[in-house]
Formats: sequence, structure tokens, C-alpha cells
Amino acid sequence: MPSSDLMEKVVSLCRKRGFIFQSSEIYGGINGFWDYGPLGVELKKNIKDAWWRDMVRNPPLGPNGQEITMVGLDCSIIMNRKVWEASGHAAGFQDPMCDCKESKKRYRADQLEVFTGHPEMTPPLMYAFIKGDEDSLKAAVKKAEKAARSGGKKFTSAVASVSYMTIANNPDIRATVVGPDVDVPGTLTEARAFNLMFESHAGAIKDDDNLVYLRPETAQGIFANFKNVVDSSRVKVPFGIAQIGKAFRNEVNPRNYTFRSREFEQMEIEFFCHPSESRMWYEYWRDVRKNWYSTLGIKSEKLKPREQTSEELAHYSVGTTDIEYLFPFSDEHQELEGVAHRGAFDLTAHMTKSGQSLLYFDEDAWNRDATGRATNSFVTWMKGNPAAEEIGKYQFIPHVIEPSAGADRFTLAVLCEAYTEDKAPDSSGKMEERLVMKFHPRLAPIKAAIFPLVKKDGMPEKATALYRELKAHFNVQYDDGGAVGRRYRRQDEIGTPFCITIDGDTIKDDTVTIRDRDTLVQRRIPIGSVLTELRTLIG
Ligand code: ATP
Repeated sequence: MPSSDLMEKVVSLCRKRGFIFQSSEIYGGINGFWDYGPLGVELKKNIKDAWWRDMVRNPPLGPNGQEITMVGLDCSIIMNRKVWEASGHAAGFQDPMCDCKESKKRYRADQLEVFTGHPEMTPPLMYAFIKGDEDSLKAAVKKAEKAARSGGKKFTSAVASVSYMTIANNPDIRATVVGPDVDVPGTLTEARAFNLMFESHAGAIKDDDNLVYLRPETAQGIFANFKNVVDSSRVKVPFGIAQIGKAFRNEVNPRNYTFRSREFEQMEIEFFCHPSESRMWYEYWRDVRKNWYSTLGIKSEKLKPREQTSEELAHYSVGTTDIEYLFPFSDEHQELEGVAHRGAFDLTAHMTKSGQSLLYFDEDAWNRDATGRATNSFVTWMKGNPAAEEIGKYQFIPHVIEPSAGADRFTLAVLCEAYTEDKAPDSSGKMEERLVMKFHPRLAPIKAAIFPLVKKDGMPEKATALYRELKAHFNVQYDDGGAVGRRYRRQDEIGTPFCITIDGDTIKDDTVTIRDRDTLVQRRIPIGSVLTELRTLIG
């Protein structure tokens, strides 16, 4: 299936079956905001729960087989704005953007590409398109082909393109560029910096003193609480703090469905370690995070870790890997998650701005090296006395490894990955087209559906009893509407991995059939073992 068709089908299914709706749709919607419907909210919650369970409560063992210490946090979305001054977001969280004077649209200038002047194009115009957006690319090619044809020439989209950034500030060249949504040249403006943070005011008075920001990432709340967590829990470096929560970015050009939204959810870990071990932990998290996606059913050829080159890296970082997924809206892999080595950058910035010490004192090392002389009160005294010479050896600013994932981007990847069209037998055994969402059972919104074969002969009573037993443990559905074949199709379309049918034999011998969504195999099992069976199958 061509990938643009697949994207359209996913979007249409999501709306039809209640996974994702446009926000405030009855008022015409609002660009960059989305609502999760009854099935979407379950799917996204399962994704967040899987992350929390696999990363926070039960993370994989460390590089040397050791247990990993992870704790959670839930910070406020609005924080003292000094947090954003310290992190650099207030001054620097900017994207270059440009406007189209004709269409009134705004674009990320660094995401615009232009076909470079091509001798066969008449007039010698340059056609701009949004990188990674197939429709935009197609529109630019069409315009260029038309222009070439009118000059008796042929345009081929194989011509090179360059980033709009390389020409944006040259007015003569800009005058020859045809923007993505217009047919005339010279309507795009130069690139200007645009801060992506949403602003608001805390308190009754809307003045500069009360200016606050909606957080553009959850990470800074973790850094701001580093000392609180160390002082209040028994964590010791190395350890991680995890948080799931909303983040807001006033994206210049929200697009590709939920992929680039203005309100989204992040699942972030800040893992604090000794500087000498930071490379080991960076490699550990890079591999752990990539494997996590595979265990939840993302095919390896669609998943690609992309290590940043040394030129791309921030000056404080020894490595950053983007874990990318091949979404159907683009023929290039796109970022699902970034795993970044951030050095001591963030804690140093907050220590400087707040004036509070965020140094970590390694009590274990101190006690080990100074057996016999260390007492707790002495350590406390040393901590409060920075002039003490020896303390420097035991005190350091931890380095940070940050695996930062997007819950919405992964939800979208899961939806795209699950979408399958195949064939299955109807109730008379004839093969028919089937649309099936092949979600990993852990992520499926509904884990099982319970069908009484007919609404009589004691079957509804048995089915209801089973439904009541199961719903205390899983999200299950009771469905007694229409032929069983139709009920299977309905459940396939929303990705329910198991369907359990109560039939005449159930009344006789207390067995049921359990049908597997993907293999279509039906097995008979005792009704009393359904719960245990589902537990094993779902994991
Ligand atoms: P991009 O380059 O795609 O804008 P980023 O590098 O700015 O992403 P980070 O700041 O590293 O993203 O944020 C971590 C994660 O948060 C991303 O990998 C992505 O999954 C998610 N994310 C970031 N921006 C958005 C957005 N506008 N909409 C949805 N998810 C987002």
C-alpha cells in the first residue's frame, strides 16, 4: 500500500472508531491540538503504563548485572520562570520561522527546502516545500513541472534541493522562491527567531512580574527537584528520576497528524551518574530504549537509532542518539525519542542560577576510603564546609543521561504499525477482506471480548459472569450484537487480541473458545482458566 494511502486510512480509522479526534472539532478545530477518544485514551494509557512499569518499577538490569534505582516524579506544569532562564529556554528556545505574505501561513524556515535553480525551469524560479511532508513535496514538483512544460522543458524532481535557511536572508534569491502554498514568487519573508514557549500570567495582574511559561519539556522539573529527591529518598548515584507529563510548544508549523502537536506528552528519564561512568550509562540507555520499542511490536526495519555526528553534538555532550521510526507520511525516518548525554550542563546551570548547591557527596566512597574515621555527624559537617580540602574528592556534579520519549509520537507509531489489511473467513467459511489492528496485547485498548453465541439457553448468564470476573483485571468488552463473524470483525478493527465465545458446549461442560486475532486459531479451554490464560497471553 502506498504510504500516503496508509496514513489516510489510519487517520480515518482513528476518527471512525474513536481513537483520536480533532480538538474542539464542533468549532472547526484548532491547529496542533488533538483529543484521544475512548479507545485512544486506553491505548495511550497502556503505552504510558508499559513505560512506567518497564523503566521505573522494573527496569532492566544495569550494564554489570546490577539493579537500577529509579524513582518517579510529577511536577507542576507552570514553574518559577527562573527555571526557564537557567535552562536557556527563555532566551534560546527558538526556531527560525518565516511567513508567507500571500497565504498568511507561517513555516519553520529550517524545515523548508527549495529546488535549486534548474536551467530547464522557465522562468528560473525555485519551488519551496516542507521537508518530510509528501503532499507538500508533490505540490512543489507539480508547480515546477508545469513551469518547465510551459517553457517546453522537462522538470525532474531528482534535482537537488537546499535548505531555505541557506538563502532566506538574500532578498534577490528570495524573490525567486515560490512558497509551498502559493503560485507566485517572492512572498516568503526572511527567517526570524520565534520563541516556542506558551506564555501566561500567574495571578490577577497581567504584567511582566507575573509572566509564566507552560513547560516545553518535563525534564527541567526533574533537575529543579534533584536536591529534594536526594535529600528525601535513599537514592544514591547512579539513579534515575522519571516523569510522564504534558509539554507545550507553540510549534510554527504543526503537522503530520499528532506527530508535531502544540500540546503533547513526554516520558522522560534523567539518569544521574558519576562522570567517569557516563559513557557506559549512555550506551546502556541507548540500547535499552531501542529494545523497548521492539518488545512492543515495532518492526526492526522501521526502527532506526541515529547517532548524531560530532558536529551535531552539543559542546557538553559525548553522544546523542535519536531513535527514529519510518512513519507513512515521510520516506525518511523521524524522531520518536532522543537519548542524550547531557554532561553536568543542567545541574550546573541550576546551581549557578539558584545559588543552591546541587553537588552530590558520595558517602559510600567516603566511608570506604576513610574507614574508622567517618561518622555521620562528621560527614554532615564536611558537607556544610566547602573549605575542607579532602571533600572535593568525594563531591561532584553528576552527569546526566536523558532518554526523552514522546507518548503521542509512539502512540502514532503503534497505530501505523498495527494497521493491517488481510483476509479472514466469514461465518460461512468464505474468505473476505479484513481490517485488523495488530496491537501488541500489552498495548491493545481492549484485551478481550466476551460473546454469548445466542441471547438465550443460559449463555448470557455464563457470559455475564465471565465478563464480571475479567473486568476486575482487564479492559474487556461484552458483545452480544449480531452474528459472531460480525462481532469478530468489529473487534479486529479495534485490535482486540482475544475473543471468548460462550456456546452450547459451555452449558454442558464449562468450556469456552478463545480465538487469537492474528492466527485466527480457536481453542477450547475451561471457563475457570480464562483469567490465568489471559494473564499469560497478555504479559
Ligand atoms: P523535533 O526535532 O522533532 O522537534 P525535538 O528534538 O525538539 O523534536 P525533544 O526536545 O528531544 O524533541 O523532545 C523529546 C521528545 O518529545 C521527542 O523525541 C518527541 O517524541 C516529543 N516531541 C517533541 N516535540 C513534539 C511535538 N511538537 N509534538 C509531539 N511530540 C513532540
